[in-house]
Amino acid sequence: MPSWTDPKTPSFLPVSEHSDFPLQNIPFGVIGRPDEIFVCASRIGDTAIDLNAMEQLGYFDDLELPTGLFSQEALNEFISLGRPAWRAVRRRIAELYTVGSALEKKASERAEIEWPMAQVEVVLPVFVGDYTDFYASREHATNVGSMFRDPANALLPNWLHLPVGYHGRSSTIVESGVNVRRPNGQRKGPNDPAPVYGPSIKVDFELEMAFITGDGPVGETPIPVDRAEEHIFGLVLLNDWSARDVQQWEYVPLGPFLAKNFATSISPWIVTLDALEPFRTARPAQEDPLPLPYLQQEPTRANVDLQLEVAIAPDGHSETVVCQSNFKHMYWSMAQQLAHHTINGCLINAGDCMGSGTISGPDKGSFGSMLEITWNGKEPVTLADGSTRSFIEDGDTVTMRGFCKKDDLRIGFGEVSATLLPALSWNPASISKK
Ligand code: MN
Repeated sequence: MPSWTDPKTPSFLPVSEHSDFPLQNIPFGVIGRPDEIFVCASRIGDTAIDLNAMEQLGYFDDLELPTGLFSQEALNEFISLGRPAWRAVRRRIAELYTVGSALEKKASERAEIEWPMAQVEVVLPVFVGDYTDFYASREHATNVGSMFRDPANALLPNWLHLPVGYHGRSSTIVESGVNVRRPNGQRKGPNDPAPVYGPSIKVDFELEMAFITGDGPVGETPIPVDRAEEHIFGLVLLNDWSARDVQQWEYVPLGPFLAKNFATSISPWIVTLDALEPFRTARPAQEDPLPLPYLQQEPTRANVDLQLEVAIAPDGHSETVVCQSNFKHMYWSMAQQLAHHTINGCLINAGDCMGSGTISGPDKGSFGSMLEITWNGKEPVTLADGSTRSFIEDGDTVTMRGFCKKDDLRIGFGEVSATLLPALSWNPASISKK
């Protein structure tokens, strides 16, 4: 039998040339089957692989996993087992689905394991206990600093010394396909005499990746930068929905609050770091200034060459791509983010979600938010239907996609997509008068 790690080795399941999910990906997620039972799963091409069924058929017996591990509606317990278990399960699935394997001709067993993607619901893959969002793209931070402060001093004094971040809300993280509602809130433009309450008029996306963590190390709280990746289970696409007008008024001095926590959308299949290994690449140099020693000594190929795009589709119309970027541009790597996050004694748990921050590239076509693409609304973009956008309008569907490609191998994330619904008409003044 050929080795599944060879990019040319196929599965016996059909996988189209442009699929993000060949035999060499083997991502992890959670599906709702047609019988409405939710189980942990993987995916090859357009077939979902039911890991609970594989477990019950005895395919993981020698791995000595906890009983019922994959009958759960989240991957947290599996992720808690650590990287050796992630690797063993992923290898087992891939070997069983390699062309010529013993499973190929076992039709009755395969009927219990395999579900067409069209017949299943794909839901949040983990229970997210904590959500942190970083601000790790130099281009994004420079653009935002130029717009709101001073182009000559766009980066604040701390930015080149530490990965800036804030704590978000895990309660409003939703999976792709769940629609998002325009938030109400308080805003005040620089020339407005007083703040007003109402629907945000500057709803934006932020193109991000996020890594899902394993548990922190036992008996040793800070995670050293050179071992940080042992605690990263895998990655998803993330849209950090943002209300720019609310953000601009509220963020001083403690950072983002209600402008960010009304919704955060993620793609539902977690792609492991092992699957992304062929696409690892060096991050931008950090020589002036050198980071402090606890942020040095990362893996030499600390970033991932991962192509990203964002498209907007107005209600009833086809989409227009408004951004093409790449995760390789990030100044601060995932390993540095995790090392910095835990240097003070902060604990992490299996299933925590760490957003990268908006991923902007060096040129205008690679900016990862409408704030940057339209320069805060001053230069609207024209969509394929002839309409223009400064920010996201009600009924618009925002879709982000991401994949790595090298020679014959393509490993991707699918997409994270959501439609913006109109704000709720909720007027506190009229309610209090009753
Ligand atoms: Mn963000």
